[in-house]
Amino acid sequence: MQTKYFHGEIDPKQLANTLLVNFNRGNLRAQQFGDDRKIAVQIATRNQPTSGGQTALTVSIKKVEDGVAIQIGKQAWFGIAASLGKTALSAWRNPWNLLSRLDDVAQDLEYLQLTEQVWEIIQSEMRANKASFELSDRLRRLVCSYCQVANNVGEPSCIACGAPLGPSQPRPCKNCGFVNNNYDALCSNCNKPIA
Ligand SMILES: [Zn+2]
Ligand SMILES: [Zn+2]
Repeated sequence: MQTKYFHGEIDPKQLANTLLVNFNRGNLRAQQFGDDRKIAVQIATRNQPTSGGQTALTVSIKKVEDGVAIQIGKQAWFGIAASLGKTALSAWRNPWNLLSRLDDVAQDLEYLQLTEQVWEIIQSEMRANKASFELSDRLRRLVCSYCQVANNVGEPSCIACGAPLGPSQPRPCKNCGFVNNNYDALCSNCNKPIA
């Protein structure tokens, strides 16, 4: 499953609302579950029956250090009847857990296109909030373990005491934003080369 990490001041609730505004209209409908830290937004077409396990694109937004992690996958639409049942109740409490059991990638064209549209909306919301795959200013500063002075990421050695900083530097993946250790060649989230 695709997970992307955006660093910056992002409110999961605001992002979920943006998705609702954009996708709960026309021939699409959208709903959300969750709380301030973990929200699942489901998007489905209106022309399918609402009962009987309609598949929905499910966007999971989870607060992480200095940003959010976002997953998109496919899952059965949480119906009203289901929301009274145990599965949906636990989904409400912990949507992230349920989402880890999603189908890996949306197979059909309709959902692939919808997934692209959702990422576009998310990207523009991130740009509006000045969030990106890049490290936030706070993560960007690296505290020297010898003298506790904050250094910029990329400094080979501490600006104050000269101690080597090399391998302890965090490095964000250009593809998904996951923060890796500097000595990793491949991203431990998406498995692509980091540089
Ligand atoms: Zn130092
Ligand atoms: Zn990655």
